[in-house]
Amino acid sequence: MTRSETLFEQAKKTIPGGVNSPVRAFNGVGGTPRFIEKADGAYIYDADGKAYIDYVGSWGPMILGHNHPSIREAVLKAVHNGLSFGAPTELEVIMAEKVIEMVPSMDQVRMVSSGTEATMSAIRLARGYTKRDKILKFEGCYHGHADCLLVKAGSGALTLGQPSSPGIPEDFAKHTLTAVYNDLESVQSFFDQYPEDIACIIIEPVAGNMNCIPPVPGFLEGLRAICDKYGALFIIDEVMTGFRVSRSGAQGHYGVTPDLTTLGKVIGGGMPVGAFGGKKDVMQYLAPAGPVYQAGTLSGNPIAMTAGLAQLDALCADGLYEELAAKTKRIAEGFKAAADKHGIPMAINYVGGMFGFFFTDEQHITRFDQVTRCNMDHFRAFYHGMLDEGVYLAPSAYEAGFLSMAHGDKEIEETLAAADRVLARMK
Ligand code: PLP
Repeated sequence: MTRSETLFEQAKKTIPGGVNSPVRAFNGVGGTPRFIEKADGAYIYDADGKAYIDYVGSWGPMILGHNHPSIREAVLKAVHNGLSFGAPTELEVIMAEKVIEMVPSMDQVRMVSSGTEATMSAIRLARGYTKRDKILKFEGCYHGHADCLLVKAGSGALTLGQPSSPGIPEDFAKHTLTAVYNDLESVQSFFDQYPEDIACIIIEPVAGNMNCIPPVPGFLEGLRAICDKYGALFIIDEVMTGFRVSRSGAQGHYGVTPDLTTLGKVIGGGMPVGAFGGKKDVMQYLAPAGPVYQAGTLSGNPIAMTAGLAQLDALCADGLYEELAAKTKRIAEGFKAAADKHGIPMAINYVGGMFGFFFTDEQHITRFDQVTRCNMDHFRAFYHGMLDEGVYLAPSAYEAGFLSMAHGDKEIEETLAAADRVLARMK
């Protein structure tokens, strides 16, 4: 038995399913999850000492690569001052100013400890502000595991075949309307039905929890216009896309302005951090300035703020996002070229530092139902082939892949050579 196999058996005795977050269990691909001991740059190392070129990046945060020296040194320095104070700090002010500078649609921001907290709180704020109960999301989009958002969700919920989780009372779920991604008509029909009841639309501006699906031209702009027409708030969930698709997120990339933005992953530099913010008149509705309650014992934690700030500072380097996008393009186009060479049908999508590949005959993947029709046997074979070759991809066909600045020519060339060998064997 490998050390990962032994640890997994041991873990299952005390941790449900052996993991602390479902997709990690490899249910989507079969086999034993690799237990990770350490990570550095573009590589993660498992408990058996095997190195992998990593395209998961802790599910998005590690955009500079693992164990980045400037983040590590900043954190090591900060721990000498204590781990948590439960009182305001200058670091939080600096963080708020930095976020607002990078994401111009945000006038004010509140720090939380996860993406789930960010989206859950933004929804509560939207409901409190508009005094409306219903919310509209999109099938296959994942916004964390708050009750109102685990309806027809993506990510692990989708991987496990349970996009709507048991444990959520029908009385809660009935307020969540689910439209079709990239289909404005499906959104309009809900607003025709409930013109004065929908508090907000929440969307992943590039869907990354049903593989990787960018918005078709005009879609985000259309949602903005519908929100304006009906007095609903537009929430862009940039937990995944924030500081990844561009310096100012997907909203900057596509030129669309939301009322509220949610952030997570990259903003914490690998520590547990989320944030939500937006227009001042809406944010002023939040306690203690306003009536909508939201709080957190560890919110704005000094170590987490230090790690996040070090990462955001490094991300402001000139030309960084162009370089990241070029690396991502090379991987996605390289996978496609190898698949074409070996006659295996594949489609790809990529934006900024995120990419997806689909084993399908269809060439343009813009909708959730196309993803569900992809060839899962091909995905599993490719996944395990790549893992054996030392390339760590997301263990689910419903997750986007991520590049980091630490992925150099060597790693990209090795990854593409591995893909060529694996696809050749799959013929
Ligand atoms: N929103 C999006 C778009 C996400 O991708 C995720 C997590 O993958 C979340 C929200 C939830 O974030 P967290 O896992 O930090 O709670």
